[in-house]
Amino acid sequence: MKVSLEEVTKVFDGGVTALDALSLEIQDGEFFALLGPSGCGKTTLLRTIAGLETASSGTLRIGDRDVTRVPPGARDVAMVFQDYALFPHMTVADNIAYPLRIKKVGRAERRAKAAATGEGLSLGGLMERRPAQLSGGQQQRVALARAMAAQPTVFLLDEPLSNLDARLRLEARTFLKKLQHDLGVTTVFVTHDQAEALALADRIAVMESGRIRQLGTPREVFQRPANVFVAGFIGSTPMNLLAGECVPGDGETATSWGHQIDVAGVRLPVPEDIVTELTPGDKVIVGIRPEYLTESEDGIKGTVEIVENLGTTSLVTLTTTGPSVQLTVPEGREPEPGATLHVTPAPGRLLVYRADDGELIDAP
Ligand code: ATP
Repeated sequence: MKVSLEEVTKVFDGGVTALDALSLEIQDGEFFALLGPSGCGKTTLLRTIAGLETASSGTLRIGDRDVTRVPPGARDVAMVFQDYALFPHMTVADNIAYPLRIKKVGRAERRAKAAATGEGLSLGGLMERRPAQLSGGQQQRVALARAMAAQPTVFLLDEPLSNLDARLRLEARTFLKKLQHDLGVTTVFVTHDQAEALALADRIAVMESGRIRQLGTPREVFQRPANVFVAGFIGSTPMNLLAGECVPGDGETATSWGHQIDVAGVRLPVPEDIVTELTPGDKVIVGIRPEYLTESEDGIKGTVEIVENLGTTSLVTLTTTGPSVQLTVPEGREPEPGATLHVTPAPGRLLVYRADDGELIDAP
C-alpha cells in the first residue's frame, strides 16, 4: 500500500516541533529509509505512521484511506521496535506465530509460516526457547520474524539491525532485502546508519529538524547531494566542502568557459552544465568526495598530515593554506607524511553549492 503524508506536523507537549509540515509519498511496495542525525524526527515520523503518535495537523493516508485519527490496531501495519517488545512467557515459535493467531490463521499454517520465517533469520534451532534465553541479537531477529510472519500491508522498522553484530548485520540485511523484495510489502525503516540506508533502500529521505532535506534514490543522494547538509552527512568518508568564488576565466584552458572557480588560489573549471548559473563574484562552496580527488601536476596544494588505512584504500589528510582536504588513494600508493601533493577533482565530479543557502547549483 502507498503511504502519503500531507503537511504533517507533530508538536510535542513542551513545544518541540518534531515534524514540520512534512509531505511525502511512499510508493506501494517500496523499501523506504528515513535517515538523519539524532533528534531529526525519524522515529516520530515512523511512530506517526504506526499510529503510536497522532499528528498535530496534516493528513496521513495508507492507500486511499485517511488514517490520521485511526488507532494503530486498525491500520494493518506491523512495527519492529528497537527494544524488541517480545512476549516473555511465549516460546520463539509462539512469538513469531502470535500475529497469525490474532488473524485466526489455523494452527498448522501458523507453525509452518513461523518455522519458515524463523529459518530465514537463522532462528531454526531456537524455536522452543523463551526470549530470556536468547541474546539481544537473537531477540531482535525474533521481533523481525514476528512482524514479517504477519504479512502486514505496511512494515515499519525502527533501527531493525542496530543490535546485531557486524557479520550478522550484513546477513540480516541481505535477508531483509530479499524478503522485502519477495513479499513486496511497503516497508519504511529508520536508521542513522547511512551505509544501511544506501544498501537497502529504494529511496531515502534525509531528514534534519523535522524536515526532509533530500528525497531520492541512494545513487541520487550519494552522487548529487542537494545541499551541503546532505553532502556532509552522506558518504563513509566526509565530502570535502571548500569555500570558493566565481572569478573571470584566465583563458588558459579550454574549460575556462569565460569564468572559473577560485578555491584557495587554485582555479577549477566550472562544471559545463551550470556555466550559465554562475557570475563572477558569486560565493560558492565546492563539494568533492575524497574518492574523486586525484593527484595532479597542479591543483590544490597540500602537505600530507595523516594516512589512514581503510583496507583496499587509504584516506590521506592534507593540510593546505585553507581547510584540510582529504583524498583516498589505492592500497600501496600511499604518500609519506610530510610529502607535498597537488590534487584536482576528477572530471565531472565537482559539485557546486551556493554559499548563502547551501543549495546545489543544478543545470538550468
Ligand atoms: P534518534 O536517532 O536519536 O532516535 P530521531 O531522529 O528518531 O532521533 P525523534 O525521536 O523522532 O528523533 O525526536 C525528534 C524530536 O522530538 C527530538 O527533539 C526529541 O527530543 C523530541 N521528542 C521525541 N519524543 C518526544 C516526546 N514524547 N515528548 C517530547 N519531545 C519528544
